[in-house]
Amino acid sequence: MKPFIYDYSFEQWQEWVKTNGMPAFRAGQIFDWLYVKRVTSFEQMTNLPKALRELLEEQFRFVTLDEIARYESKDGTVKFLFELQDKNAIETVIMKHSYGNSVCVTTQVGCRIGCTFCASTLGGLKRDLAPGEIIAQVVKAQQLLDAVNERVSSIVIMGIGEPFENYDSMMTFLKVMIHEKGLNIGQRHITVSTSGIVPNIYRFADEDTQINLAISIHAPNDALRSKLMPVNRRFPFADMIQACKYYTEKTGRRITFEYALMGGVNDQPEHAEELAEVLKEMPLAHVNLIPVNFVQERNYVRTPREHIFRFQRILEKNKVNATIRREQGSDIAAACGQLRAKHLESSAR
Ligand code: SF4
Repeated sequence: MKPFIYDYSFEQWQEWVKTNGMPAFRAGQIFDWLYVKRVTSFEQMTNLPKALRELLEEQFRFVTLDEIARYESKDGTVKFLFELQDKNAIETVIMKHSYGNSVCVTTQVGCRIGCTFCASTLGGLKRDLAPGEIIAQVVKAQQLLDAVNERVSSIVIMGIGEPFENYDSMMTFLKVMIHEKGLNIGQRHITVSTSGIVPNIYRFADEDTQINLAISIHAPNDALRSKLMPVNRRFPFADMIQACKYYTEKTGRRITFEYALMGGVNDQPEHAEELAEVLKEMPLAHVNLIPVNFVQERNYVRTPREHIFRFQRILEKNKVNATIRREQGSDIAAACGQLRAKHLESSAR
């Protein structure tokens, strides 16, 4: 299989042009066509010699993300279901905020992590996405925004899949996103979210980046977390917290802990007290409370609004910063994996 044209970082393009005996500036030209002019074919790269375009065509293929469905929410959120070349389906979301457009990307086809509140994991993991297939989601979003003269201003890696289980592709994706000759997205405007793959929290801490890290914590202790997130049996709670402390010390950056509130499961005052106890040793910790979306196949109910505020008050009383995530796209099933799950269901009929 030929690699995708978006699979390479700038450094890899430099290497490629060198290996093929071309001057170094060709790498910049290729990058410019891909990420600044955002062309969709090799023929459009008109300032490249014909022989180079032919070589690119021979060695690479463009990613095709065929739009299967598009859902637009009243709040401006747009969710796409894309079909990949091998017919697998993935989701990408564009969210409109007062500060700009944010894109939520998918890193794997399905997910093997098995979080009990998540639709993305229902069919297990099919395969990892190539770097180019992750990058193509942002390029596609930007091409759509080009039509209205807007740009992608931030990225969250929170779509389908566990990015730390597709680590190398995720890192290539990040390198391309932040490169000044590419889409040039500010590092501080990018967030990677993990369910807690401990070795890669350490690895990420040792990368020299300003990219934000979010941890899906969802429970204040080992026993409850193992029930909600089987990954906790592989990487126990205490080890995950230890890795987070290392990350904070190493980078001086805050970590956002995502906490999906599930009615009667993890949303009681004692859970908030216990969570505060764990996090108060980490002065840079921030908790993002997420009212859980109803997943048809699961039995979780929503936490009443007043209980969400109560949970937040307990954290803040204990000097742990906490915000409540604004819900977006709830009228279009924008929660991770819901559209893909519906699509799989209907294709199976
Ligand atoms: S929440 Fe994320 S890590 Fe957990 S199953 Fe869903 S996609 Fe996988």
